Amino acid sequence: MDLSQVSNGWIAIVWFGLLGLCVGSFVNVVCHRLPIILKLGPYKDGDKLLELRAKHGEFTLSNPRSTCPCCSTNIKVYQNIPVVGWIMLRGKCSMCRRPISIKYPATELLFSAAFAGYVGFEGVWLAGLMTLPMMAIAYCLLVIRLQTKRVVAPLALAYVVTVVAQIALTKFGYSAYSG
Ligand SMILES: [Zn+2]
Repeated sequence: MDLSQVSNGWIAIVWFGLLGLCVGSFVNVVCHRLPIILKLGPYKDGDKLLELRAKHGEFTLSNPRSTCPCCSTNIKVYQNIPVVGWIMLRGKCSMCRRPISIKYPATELLFSAAFAGYVGFEGVWLAGLMTLPMMAIAYCLLVIRLQTKRVVAPLALAYVVTVVAQIALTKFGYSAYSG
């Protein structure tokens, strides 16, 4: 199937906008948790990781589910919907009323706009879609670098993989520009 035939409409833009919201949400998790898990920068001594493991059993990118960093109240599934959840909570934890940073919905909106905008301009094509994870990985690398002054090697490697994949797919003709 020639993806470019079905790819330039509003439906694709809306779907990729929604995908961008979810990716932005995951990017928030990675930027917040990875420095703690890898004991980087301010978490170098590992105390924060031990504290979170004591509280939650294990602490990974997927476990526990989102909690308030102050009071550890679980954030309910519907409160965890990108942007919508933050608006429903009016930017505050439902238990302790501590503010939840606007950077979380802002990141989700940024990725939504970037994904929708990219697909709007370029259409949906396999090599081009590699740009989407590339953006997400580059963002995580940059934010963690600024926070901790460290480059996370697996993220850097993942970035290189997406670049190589894009070049390879373009060579094989999965390019918007190959005619
Ligand atoms: Zn709280």
